[in-house]
Amino acid sequence: MKHKSIYTCPHCGSKSFNPITKAFAGGYHTRGRVCRECGLRCVNGKASMIFSAIVYLIAVVIVFYLYFKIADASVWGYIYTVITIVAAYVLCRLFDAFIGPLDKAIRNDAYKK
Ligand SMILES: [Zn+2]
Repeated sequence: MKHKSIYTCPHCGSKSFNPITKAFAGGYHTRGRVCRECGLRCVNGKASMIFSAIVYLIAVVIVFYLYFKIADASVWGYIYTVITIVAAYVLCRLFDAFIGPLDKAIRNDAYKK
């Protein structure tokens, strides 16, 4: 059996992605990224979608917590909020780059020429 890497295109089976192209391939809501072997579009799959949903949910909780804790308009409140959002984004990109498998793009317009 051929070893299935997370960088394997779900359409043609070629290992045509790398951590960078995969991290920015997008999720189901995007048109995805074109496979350089077969030209069809791929996105980060279900695992990525679940992971990012959890990460952003935690980020929102942290942001609200900070908002109520640091009620005085201290600049640190804004800085921590920005750090939380950036950290959530970076975590999701790392997950896409190294952990979650790819899937076929599902948007209708992903396959129009
Ligand atoms: Zn392909």
